[in-house]
Amino acid sequence: MATVIGFDIGGTKIGIGVGDESGKILGMAKIDNVNTDPNDILPLMASEAKRLCAEAGVKVSDCPAFGISAPFPADALRGIMTAPPNNPKWRNVPVLDYLKGELNIPGCFENDANCGALAEWFFGAGRNCKDFIYLTMSTGIGGGIVCANQLVRGGAALSAGELGHICVQLDGRQCGCGQKGCYEAYCGGRALALRMQEELKDKPDSMIMQIVNGEVEKIDMIALEKAVRANDAYALALWDEMALRNAQAFGLFINAFNPEKLILGTMAWAIGDLFMDPILKYLPRFCWEEPRKACQIVPSELKRSIGAYAGIAAALNYLKEH
Ligand SMILES: [Zn+2]
Repeated sequence: MATVIGFDIGGTKIGIGVGDESGKILGMAKIDNVNTDPNDILPLMASEAKRLCAEAGVKVSDCPAFGISAPFPADALRGIMTAPPNNPKWRNVPVLDYLKGELNIPGCFENDANCGALAEWFFGAGRNCKDFIYLTMSTGIGGGIVCANQLVRGGAALSAGELGHICVQLDGRQCGCGQKGCYEAYCGGRALALRMQEELKDKPDSMIMQIVNGEVEKIDMIALEKAVRANDAYALALWDEMALRNAQAFGLFINAFNPEKLILGTMAWAIGDLFMDPILKYLPRFCWEEPRKACQIVPSELKRSIGAYAGIAAALNYLKEH
């Protein structure tokens, strides 16, 4: 059974794991990644991977591959982290080549949402599926598409799966990406928090402002969920709009790909039926009945441990493709 090495590069933490095809994690470590210099961190990533292998009784040279899960923007073809938004000192860092040189085994580099899809495919809700879509549903909305048993990466930009940035409204809300009317601008956690902060900053009597004790910058999805459960009119209207936009996007994906499953990340498993029920109510307005009935809409199975599997799943997918 192949044992591989995975790296999950996040804005605040880097996870390093050694695991096998069955989903068994043989060793894991974390490195703090707040305000770091890649010249310090890259050698640490390599040495931690070697240490974990040694502790697990595995020779690095016996690992057929390693995988890197990294945030975009990045040069995915060459494995270069170009400008990760949370790490200002990481500019044009050739992380794939560096680790290939240190570990001396083949490796691959994938964006983190694609790695989430791969992790669910190998170890979670996507097992045995040939066609499914994974959506991160967190601060942003990242997507990963598996179509006809293959991860879809697209053409020269390798940007397929950027499902949070399909336009759902002409001249709609400003998105952080520069476009207007993106799906993420209506349903991403960060976009919703910023919108509520803007709309409620002069309304100290509103329920949401009271939930956060008047600290406007603390308004987030958790405060919104609490206000919805308490039947606050503003919160209910925003929740309903979010559900409608989620249904619109899901309908697009279902008609475009006829997936067996839509696998949903954070919000779906953290909030549950309150999140899902209104989306399912609106969904028939946005897609055909046959593909809708053929598509199971389910929460992530890996939930918050998805990062532990991200790089490992990328490595296993690399082996599958080569
Ligand atoms: Zn956008």
